[in-house]
Amino acid sequence: LFVVFEGGEGAGKSTQLTLLAEALREQGQDVVVTREPGATPLGGRIRGLVLDHSEDGPSPRAEALLYAADRAHHVATVVRPALARGAVVISDRYVDSSLAYQGAGRTLPVQEISWLSSWATGGLKPDLVVLLDVDPGVGLGRVSARGAGTDRLESESKAFHDRVRYAFLDLAAADPKRYLVLDAARPAEELAGMVTARLVDVLPA
Ligand code: C5P
Repeated sequence: LFVVFEGGEGAGKSTQLTLLAEALREQGQDVVVTREPGATPLGGRIRGLVLDHSEDGPSPRAEALLYAADRAHHVATVVRPALARGAVVISDRYVDSSLAYQGAGRTLPVQEISWLSSWATGGLKPDLVVLLDVDPGVGLGRVSARGAGTDRLESESKAFHDRVRYAFLDLAAADPKRYLVLDAARPAEELAGMVTARLVDVLPA
């Protein structure tokens, strides 16, 4: 079972991911928690490159290819092997992040990013995507409140973060069976309850 958490900055993905992993482990499931970009040693190097938003950082198409390279390696070396042994894989971000950030955000053709992503992953799709929807102003406020650097994030315009947000929502609306869209402003425990309730339908016995 492959579960992905998506959402903008400060949506609370890592909190929800951790709570879900704990709940599943308590049920005796083999759980692998992972993320993009940067789950592997190679991915860690790619993460350093893609998050360089200085003038030496990648151009939009180069950035899209770097994310695709990170994802191809992540799927081949982490996600597929774990799924093959029957583990539940929970990933912080996956293909939708590229459709939203590199596609809608950087205004590259979303269809091309979709094609690139499916080539990179060999067509591996998540069983469930949990979209933590947050107003970008609120999300960025949460990131700065926890003392994390927001310079890189604030280098993008509000319009960029809005495009990202609506791209995620459009993807969810187009495939409601695969998505659980949650209001990230709700309390963490409540959100976690909704995620586990939805997972009952798709969990292996
Ligand atoms: O989820 P996390 O905070 O680790 O993501 C790091 C950053 O990478 C995010 O701020 C997001 O803006 C960016 N990102 C991106 N395109 C992706 C995945 C992440 O621009 N496909």
